[in-house]
Amino acid sequence: MAKHIFVTGGVVSSLGKGLTSASIGMLLEHRGLSVRMQKMDPYINVDPGTMSPYQHGEVYVLDDGSETDLDLGHYERFTNSPLTKDSNYTTGKIYLSVITKERRGEYLGQTVQVIPHITNEIKRAITALGGPGVDVVITEIGGTVGDIESLPFLEAIRQLSLDLGRENCLYIHLTLVPYLRAAGEIKTKPTQHSVGQLRQIGIQPDILICRTEKPLGRDARAKIALFCNVPVECVIEERDKDFSIYEVPISLVENNLDELIVRKLGLKAGPLNLEKWYDLLHRIRNPKAEVSIAVVGKYVEHRDAYKSIYEALDHAGIAHHAQVRVERVHSEKVEQEGPERLLAGVDGILVPGGFGERGIEGKVEAIRFARERGIPFFGICLGMQCAVIEFARHVAGLKHAHSTEFHKDTPDPVVCLLDEQRTKTDKGGTMRLGAYPAVLQPNSLAAKAYGTLEISERHRHRYEFNNEYRHILTEKGLAITGTSPDGKLVEIIELPQHPWFVAVQFHPEFKSQPTKAHPLFKAFIESALKTRAQRASSQFSQSAQSSALAD
Ligand code: GLN
Repeated sequence: MAKHIFVTGGVVSSLGKGLTSASIGMLLEHRGLSVRMQKMDPYINVDPGTMSPYQHGEVYVLDDGSETDLDLGHYERFTNSPLTKDSNYTTGKIYLSVITKERRGEYLGQTVQVIPHITNEIKRAITALGGPGVDVVITEIGGTVGDIESLPFLEAIRQLSLDLGRENCLYIHLTLVPYLRAAGEIKTKPTQHSVGQLRQIGIQPDILICRTEKPLGRDARAKIALFCNVPVECVIEERDKDFSIYEVPISLVENNLDELIVRKLGLKAGPLNLEKWYDLLHRIRNPKAEVSIAVVGKYVEHRDAYKSIYEALDHAGIAHHAQVRVERVHSEKVEQEGPERLLAGVDGILVPGGFGERGIEGKVEAIRFARERGIPFFGICLGMQCAVIEFARHVAGLKHAHSTEFHKDTPDPVVCLLDEQRTKTDKGGTMRLGAYPAVLQPNSLAAKAYGTLEISERHRHRYEFNNEYRHILTEKGLAITGTSPDGKLVEIIELPQHPWFVAVQFHPEFKSQPTKAHPLFKAFIESALKTRAQRASSQFSQSAQSSALAD
């Protein structure tokens, strides 16, 4: 039977519960255990697919097409736990399933209630992950202890220790130990209150992970242990990491967390081998080069809206021993100020996915700038659609070319709705979602990057390259280098005359890992590094020439 770890959070949100859970999963995997990861989100939306990036940050897409919380991105970057639609539940999804059963008459005349029906459904979702061969299921409970909406989830995990046996369940509570500058000391009271609230509903945490900017010190640990009723060795310090999120597992190991978990759950684990991870950190700490990439989007001010893109850029940098400096450029600002001011001097330009008309013209302008100046360009989803619009307008002479998403009656709809999308009215879960295969053109930049002609990538879009324009655009020099296996859907476009101009209809950022950068991101950064080196050497020869003249 699988053992269960429950990760809750207290005091404030944004403590990095997702990262901590992912780090725990990663450590246990590195001790030879088979791990499954799962997140419970207390909000009512059935999934985050209908939420704005301002509300929720990035929507992370899985192979099976589920639209999930961005913490699942951490899980996939840190662990090899296979994720599916069963890896992310929300209050909405739980209720939907209970209400559907009620309508089918499955409750046989009972009054359907939060306890036991909702809690049973939550317990079913949690235990379902502990199938044959699985050693540990890690379930992260979203939200903060004390929120009304997380109560049914906490009640369900409390009950599970009775159902499964207390010795098979481990409760880890992540909490904040703030440093008060005025008092010059760290404060343990918020942690005491948060644990107090957990204990009131019947959960005694086994391990406390304390997020703190200052070292906890022996006294604070002893105090937390005493007031929160845990052994002092189970008070773990997790100091803020300003360098890299990939340091988190190491700091947990330094605090003996993996050993504690293995011991408390009685797991048969192997020794910890983190060689690859230390090599990763060494590369992050000692870059040999630097490269600047402009990400031109409309959600750039939101830290998490393009989370996986920023991570994938970092991974590609790590692969090349380089540090990627990301310039977040607002696409509306490009409209107002022009691309020259904001983009001159960057080594590469990336236009990510998105929805809605705001900022579109700025993205088109940024792409034009990249195309005309020979700056490496990487377009993703909406980024590809904008690249098609830009090419159609400025190279193929279709001045008013547009996507019907933004201009319904455009005379040249170079991007339009997929046929199967025309009849859909519901917004939730109805896009073209999840992994689809594609075939690549030999000798294309994409084929060179992937090193194969058959790929599978994740999608999340409604609109598509309009095949009626294939002929005219390719005649003018646009190369279609990746399509669906039946050739009907355009998946990748390139400009052969340009040093590196690749745009894709899918989301490669969801499949990049720190120790295994995505091939397209890797190739993009490689060409940006080349651009930078060329620019430096041409500046050098120019200044050498002018100083020779001055001599
Ligand atoms: N809005 C575009 C579409 O629906 C692009 C979506 C995206 O970038 N994820 O097709």
